[in-house]
Amino acid sequence: MSEQKTKHDIIVIGAGPAGYTAGIYSSRARRDTLLISGILPGGQLMNTTDVENYPGFDEGIMGPDLMIIMRKQAEKMGTKIIDDEVVSVDFKSKLLKVSTASSTFEANSVIVCTGANPRKIGLDGEQAFAGKGVSYCATCDGAFFKNQELIVVGGGDSAMEEATFLTKFASTVHIVHRRDEFRASKIMQERALSNEKIKVHFNCTVEDIQGDQKFQKVILKNVKNDEKITLEAGGLFVAIGHEPNSKILEDQVELDENGYVVLKNNTETSIPGVFCAGDVHDHRYRQAVTAAGFGCMAAIDADKYLAEQK
Ligand code: NAP
Repeated sequence: MSEQKTKHDIIVIGAGPAGYTAGIYSSRARRDTLLISGILPGGQLMNTTDVENYPGFDEGIMGPDLMIIMRKQAEKMGTKIIDDEVVSVDFKSKLLKVSTASSTFEANSVIVCTGANPRKIGLDGEQAFAGKGVSYCATCDGAFFKNQELIVVGGGDSAMEEATFLTKFASTVHIVHRRDEFRASKIMQERALSNEKIKVHFNCTVEDIQGDQKFQKVILKNVKNDEKITLEAGGLFVAIGHEPNSKILEDQVELDENGYVVLKNNTETSIPGVFCAGDVHDHRYRQAVTAAGFGCMAAIDADKYLAEQK
């Protein structure tokens, strides 16, 4: 068995649209590039069905298919891909170190593309009907629910934004929130509450998510009086925040109070040579196409950094 090469120009961590695009660009710039994919290569798009808003696919494309194409494209450009999980990084010395459980790799530059995951309510039905009526992205899936009643869970800016966006398609949007006031900014609240298609259910927790072949209803509990309420709808949008996959970066690069990577200048992190792309820093756009765009930018920035080091 040939010995694994451990030293590379650039290591990309993560295999979503940001990671694969970073791989494509850095390999095409003739940088020796290793991409370590993580435990779920493809990222959040592996849990998505039709993607209708990624440019270049006029008929739409299934999320997993899009990721397979991106992976093939990165490999074709010369990116070496290892399907393994990064368990730690050491960015304290100039030669940057990235470790899996079995190996340590070194590079002069690292592009972090570890993504984020939507926070889950944590109910069995949520998992059972994910992609079958339960969604975590109104921009991605809203158009599939024309003239249907929809439910949005959450009380932050995301919930307000998703609910307001969904009124373009839905007959009614029910916002379900566990407290009696929203966390969202006043302007986002006002926008949502002034929309006559939106109905709010305060002080309600989701107790159960039910359906048959696909999602059909939620059972809510009013936490003030324990009353149970059944709400039927075509779709359930969970908008209770995201968690950036930045655990391995703690004490290595600067993170904000929510764990997102802080960018200093374009895609640079607080550590020279370490760049970042996609949802692990971007809590605003969170789209496949924006992640891919950031992946491109990070690879260009890393290439320029390496050229300047010589
Ligand atoms: P967030 O601000 O953390 O709000 C999450 C909401 O979900 C909160 O209302 C929270 O309830 C609720 N929640 C959390 N866990 C829950 C659970 N297990 N069950 C039920 N409800 C739960 O998250 P976000 O709305 O995604 O916003 C994240 C960041 O992005 C914020 O800084 C936000 O301002 C920003 N953002 C900005 C825009 C914009 O400006 N256009 C749009 C979207 C997001 P509690 O309130 O009771 O804790």
